Amino acid sequence: TTALVWLRDDLRLADNPALLAAAQAGPVVPVYILEEPDGDGQGPRPLGGAARWWLHGSLAALGEALAARGSRLILARGPAAEVIPRLAAACGAQAVHWNRRLEPGGQAVDRHLKASLPAHGLAAVSHRANLLIEPWRVRDGQPYKVFTPFWRWLASQELADPLPAPARLEAPAEWPPSEALDAWALRPTAPDWAGGLRATWTPGEAAAADRLGTFLDTVAGYPEQRDRPDLAATSRLSPHLRFGEISPRQADHAVRLALGAQPERADALAAFRRQLAWREFSCHQLHAFPALASQPLKPAFARFPWRPDDDHARALFSAWSRGRTGIDLIDAGMAELWHSGWMHNRVRMVAASLLTKNLRLPWQWGEAWFWDTLVDADPANNPAGWQWVAGCGADAAPFFRVFNPETQASRFDPTATYRRHWLGNRQRPPPIVNLKTSRAEALAAYKDMGEGA
Ligand code: FAD
Repeated sequence: TTALVWLRDDLRLADNPALLAAAQAGPVVPVYILEEPDGDGQGPRPLGGAARWWLHGSLAALGEALAARGSRLILARGPAAEVIPRLAAACGAQAVHWNRRLEPGGQAVDRHLKASLPAHGLAAVSHRANLLIEPWRVRDGQPYKVFTPFWRWLASQELADPLPAPARLEAPAEWPPSEALDAWALRPTAPDWAGGLRATWTPGEAAAADRLGTFLDTVAGYPEQRDRPDLAATSRLSPHLRFGEISPRQADHAVRLALGAQPERADALAAFRRQLAWREFSCHQLHAFPALASQPLKPAFARFPWRPDDDHARALFSAWSRGRTGIDLIDAGMAELWHSGWMHNRVRMVAASLLTKNLRLPWQWGEAWFWDTLVDADPANNPAGWQWVAGCGADAAPFFRVFNPETQASRFDPTATYRRHWLGNRQRPPPIVNLKTSRAEALAAYKDMGEGA
C-alpha cells in the first residue's frame, strides 16, 4: 500500500522509524507541512526567525537527499487535518505514518488526526523517534521531578541501536503536487540578517553527521571543557537535534562506539549522556505540564514581584537583548546569539540570571527573545532552561543562586578570549545595573513572594 510519511521534527532518513516502516510496506510519499492553525485554533507553536531560517536549509537538504534516492519531498501548507486527506487522495495513499512529538499544540493536532483520518479511509500510524525514552514509559507515566534520579534511571536503561535508512524508497504511481520551498519565504530577504547564520551552520542530515564526527575527535575533553565558552568543546548538535536531523539515539550510539575502545574515557560518555538526559527531562516536563512556556512550574512564582512593565523595564530589556548592558560576558553572549543563532550553555545561564534576577524582568520575555533568535529554539528545552535559571522550574537552581557575571567570566573565560572575540573594539557602555544592589533587591523580592506559602 502507498503511504504518506509526514515528516515534522525528524528531518532525516536514517533512524527514522516512520519512514522505514512505510518504506517496508510499499510506495512512499514523504511530506512536510507548514502547519497553520486549524478551525479550533490548534497548531504547533509558530517558529521564530532563526528557526525558520534553519527549517529552509533543512528541507532543502532533505529534498535533495530524497531526490538522490529517486524520491521527492512534497511540500504543502495549511492545517494538517485538511492537507493530509487532500494529498492522500491525490496519490491514492491508504496510510500515513509519523513520528510522535510532545509539543502541546502539535500533539493536539495529532490526537485529532488519529481520530479523524480513519473516516477518510486512512490508517494513522505513529512511531517513537526523537526521544530515548517517551514520558509514558517512565514510572507508569509519573514524571521524575528531580533530575539526578531520572538520570540514574535513564543511564541504567539498555538503548536499542539506531535504525538504518531505508535501502529503497519506492515511488508512488502518481505524485501529489508540491509547493515551492522558496514561496514559503522562510529566509529573510530585506534586511538579510542571516549572514552570520550561513557562515556558522549547514543544516541537514549530512552536516549533522559531520558535526558529530568532528565532536567525536575531541569528546575526551568534554567533561572538563564543556563549561568553557572560549573553547569549542561541546557538540553544537542542538539545532540538528531540534529538527531531528540526527536522533539522540544516533548521537548516543556514536559516542558510545567512539569511547568503547577507551574504557578510561567512560567519564566523557557519561557527561555527554547526562546532557542528552537533560533534553529528555525537559521533554518530559513539557509533556506533564503543557503550559511550560508561559506558566511557572512552581505555582508560588506566579506571585513573583517582577519589575512593572513600563518604559524603564522596556529600556532595560532592549539593552539586554541587544547586548548593550555594559557587562562584558552578557554582551558577548548576546552578540554571539545575534550573529550565529546560538549561545554557549554557560553564557545562556548567566544571561538568563541577569535578566530574571538583577533586572527582575519576567523570564517569559527572555524565553520569547531566545525563541526568536536561537537556531535550536526548542519548545521543551527553551522554557525548561529559562524556568531552571529563574528558579521556578523542575529541580531548578534555587532562586537565591544569582550568577555573578564577572566571577563567571573569570572562571569560564579566563583569558577573555570569548569576550574579546564577540565584543571586538566596540565602545563599551557603562553597566546598566549595579550587580550588588540589584542582587540584594532580587533576594528581597523573592522573600516577599514567599515560596512556601
Ligand atoms: P552539548 O553540551 O554538546 O549537549 C548535547 C545535547 O544535549 C545538546 O545538543 C542538547 O540537545 C542537549 N542539552 C545539552 N544541555 C542541555 C540542557 N541544559 N538542557 C536541555 N538539553 C541540553 N537547548 C536547546 O536545545 N534549545 C533551546 O531552546 C535551549 N534554550 C535554553 C535556554 C536557557 C536559558 C538555557 C540555560 C539553556 C537552554 N538550552 C537549550 C540548553 C543548552 O544551553 C543547549 O542545549 C546547549 O547549549 C546546546 O549546545 P551543544 O549542542 O553544544 O550541547
